[in-house]
Amino acid sequence: MSKNKKVGVMGGTFDPIHYGHLVTAEAARTHFNLDKVIFTPTGKPPHKKGYSVTPAEDRYLMTVLAINSNPYFDISRMEIERPGLTYTVDTLEQFYNELGKDVKLYFISGADAVLDILTWKDVEKVLGYCTFIAATRPGYPVEELNQKLLQIKQMYGQEVYPMEVTGLDISSTDIRRRVKEGLSIKYLLPESVETYIQKSGLYR
Ligand code: NAP
Repeated sequence: MSKNKKVGVMGGTFDPIHYGHLVTAEAARTHFNLDKVIFTPTGKPPHKKGYSVTPAEDRYLMTVLAINSNPYFDISRMEIERPGLTYTVDTLEQFYNELGKDVKLYFISGADAVLDILTWKDVEKVLGYCTFIAATRPGYPVEELNQKLLQIKQMYGQEVYPMEVTGLDISSTDIRRRVKEGLSIKYLLPESVETYIQKSGLYR
């Protein structure tokens, strides 16, 4: 059956969201001709058990502020409201059930996250629900990624699309470090998000 609609699911911790994420989502939308992109901030990421992640409600609100001006962008509270650890397979299953079989899902995330995908819960199901888009920063060492993509193709018969994104050399880790050290984060993320970080005292 041909799918009538294409929806991108933009998965990430977004701690905080920045222009690299926004440019990635917009590039995926235009390149893959998506009808919309739903930003889906993670609840409790299983791979970050040892780290302190900013409360989900703060990450959600910053994402709301960041996507506000793009009519093709939407946001879901699905992962932050789901009890327990956040697994992408549960998210894709929920989107599949809510949006219906006529919608083709694309999961957009960073290439480093995709490199680990073979360790994810129910990876075969994950790849069955969606087409993966792996965003890379300029200068990213693509050999390791290409090998992993080939392995995925051989094991599961599924294509994962790498997508180089200019501007993705901004990183959440660097923004958190800058705030902690009192350095400027201006022009790395939307002003509304910068103001939220200042007012709430995050990352100090
Ligand atoms: P991460 O490991 O923190 O990030 C890996 C790299 O990818 C970082 O450089 C990150 O940059 C970048 N990145 C993350 N999301 C991105 C996006 N949407 N667009 C462009 N670059 C992005 O990754 P994460 O944010 O925690 O997880 C990414 C997604 O994979 C989430 O939806 C998460 O739930 C899912 N995931 C699922 C499982 C599982 O089901 N078992 C396991 C791991 C991850 P920044 O730091 O600048 O964002």
